[in-house]
Amino acid sequence: EFVRATQLQGDEPSSVPPSSAQAQQKESIQAVRRSLPVFPFREELLAAIANHQVLIIEGETGSGKTTQIPQYLFEEGYTKKGMKIACTQPRRVAAMSVAARVAREMGVKLGNEVGYSIRFEDCTSERTVLRYMTDGMLLREFLSEPDLASYSVVMVDEAHERTLHTDILFGLIKDVARFRPELKVLVASATLDTARFSTFFDDAPVFRIPGRRFPVDIFYTKAPEADYLEACVVSVLQIHVTQPPGDILVFLTGQEEIEAACEMLQDRCRRLGSKIRELLVLPIYANLPSDMQARIFQPTPPGARKVVVATNIAETSLTIEGIIYVLDPGFCKQKSYNPRTGMESLTVTPCSKASANQRAGRAGRVAAGKCFRLYTAWAYQHELEETTVPEIQRTSLGNVVLLLKSLGIHDLMHFDFLDPPPYETLLLALEQLYALGALNHLGELTTSGRKMAELPVDPMLSKMILASEKYSCSEEILTVAAMLSVNNSIFYRPKDKVVHADNARVNFFLPGGDHLVLLNVYTQWAESGYSSQWCYENFVQFRSMRRARDVREQLEGLLERVEVGLSSCQGDYIRVRKAITAGYFYHTARLTRSGYRTVKQQQTVFIHPNSSLFEQQPRWLLYHELVLTTKEFMRQVLEIESSWLLEVAPHYYKAKELEDPHAKKMPKKVGKTREELG
Ligand code: ADP
Ligand code: MG
Repeated sequence: EFVRATQLQGDEPSSVPPSSAQAQQKESIQAVRRSLPVFPFREELLAAIANHQVLIIEGETGSGKTTQIPQYLFEEGYTKKGMKIACTQPRRVAAMSVAARVAREMGVKLGNEVGYSIRFEDCTSERTVLRYMTDGMLLREFLSEPDLASYSVVMVDEAHERTLHTDILFGLIKDVARFRPELKVLVASATLDTARFSTFFDDAPVFRIPGRRFPVDIFYTKAPEADYLEACVVSVLQIHVTQPPGDILVFLTGQEEIEAACEMLQDRCRRLGSKIRELLVLPIYANLPSDMQARIFQPTPPGARKVVVATNIAETSLTIEGIIYVLDPGFCKQKSYNPRTGMESLTVTPCSKASANQRAGRAGRVAAGKCFRLYTAWAYQHELEETTVPEIQRTSLGNVVLLLKSLGIHDLMHFDFLDPPPYETLLLALEQLYALGALNHLGELTTSGRKMAELPVDPMLSKMILASEKYSCSEEILTVAAMLSVNNSIFYRPKDKVVHADNARVNFFLPGGDHLVLLNVYTQWAESGYSSQWCYENFVQFRSMRRARDVREQLEGLLERVEVGLSSCQGDYIRVRKAITAGYFYHTARLTRSGYRTVKQQQTVFIHPNSSLFEQQPRWLLYHELVLTTKEFMRQVLEIESSWLLEVAPHYYKAKELEDPHAKKMPKKVGKTREELG
């Protein structure tokens, strides 16, 4: 039950009727382009770009920044002489989807003139002049081309998202712009904090694209919802049954939740049968295959209604036409990092007011809309933060520090950050890289560190891959690495077959732990000839496996560069486990009388109930990641022996601290101080 509270003011009265899906389809693609809010400003914008090296561009979501501006630049000749235009996106799905759209608008094949480049997937060619890429990929471009010499324009898009990679790009690009006066830098943002960007780029001018927005009525629940997933499903059906036509957009936090919600919705629609009109249920999240992604943009058939269940990718990165209703439970999944304990975890947290307002705004793009918030007006006022804390202040920095060191940037304390990371986080990153052998005691990149930076994965994963050379098991380690990067979407567990699915999963269990289970799944799948039928029979997600295979192939292609030969452990899994430990010795826990404690910082942690080791409770283990839900859960757990820690990380562990599991003694500080590391 909702109470109506406030109205988000629109910029215009809602006199323009929503163009129907059909009518829109009939319009030529060029007419659609001309109808976008940015279009009337084309010349003015191009003039501003010609006159200024750095331009901040602000405009509502859906005004055409991402899809149009790079095309304008292309039409204007910025890609002459083989020069390229880069447009960065914080999210891989957005990079793919937007590139596909632009290729269609330009009438070219995706991967020819227009392409995208995301980690482990490069859809570009020699001919590609418009490159949509994740911010992380542009960051990696600096490794091969530190002055970005082949680019005439770099557009840092979705700047307001303030992802770690975008923030680092700001600093690097500002520097490059100083010695490449002909390089054009565009910083595009959906929201109003553009003044910050302007100040950062030496008072660069801000170009505002006036938005088109219709009023959005906002409704709150009277009381907090205990189960927001259930509340979402009920509300969607309520909207469907009681509200006039118009599509629905629901914001959830991640794949698992979205799949569950979609399943529940489909289930209930099936049961209601012909009592209700048709409801098309469409998910959108990062790992969704691209053919499924494309479906969210297809016009809704007459008489039916579409409900898109999305992560916050639909907040500003993607615009779906025809949304009139937004359902916002008020949560998002966020990384948080505790530099004191070095523990990073993913947590479902309340979103910020800025996010909530962006979400509501999605309902007012084509006509007056409604936003239903599954929380109280009081909670909005008192419990939500104003804005989201930039990622750089709540994540570990190992990756980025390694990259910056590889670029020859040694004085990280004085790097030009838009918002600096906490000092402790930077220090800990240096210490961890030192412990991993990537930096020497002077804080300089070692040979091994240089190799680690070559691999497009986290330092711990890189280290694990490098260590596979010593333990002669790179074949197996590549598989483990690939399976870890597809992340929690291997097993399929349909509601009506949970028992079968769980049995199938248990059948893959091997002594030693979850990494070996992943290895086992992949090996059996490979033996089946990479068969989809095999996946189906074993409740394994075929598309996740296909992706793992891609990732594995790419990593294999990089082995030579980092001087690791292909070798197999021939079933001697101890070697595989040791190689994993060589990378993940930071993520260790031991069983104490009061449950698991992390070895160094003595934090309480729990084995995730899905783990193959959940019942065995081994004495020593390492984990791949921590996920905070009701507790700090360790996900992907491997049993280890404490003696291995001394073998793989002698300068990090001392024999003494690995002796008595109940020792209260604080760990001795290792690594070097800031001064020593530089
Ligand atoms: P902005 O970057 O300013 O948020 P975009 O350039 O992403 O705006 O979007 C401009 C328009 O293009 C929007 O109306 C959106 O609906 C449309 N659009 C973007 N991607 C697609 C797609 N894959 N299919 C259909 N329309 C799309
Ligand atoms: Mg955009």
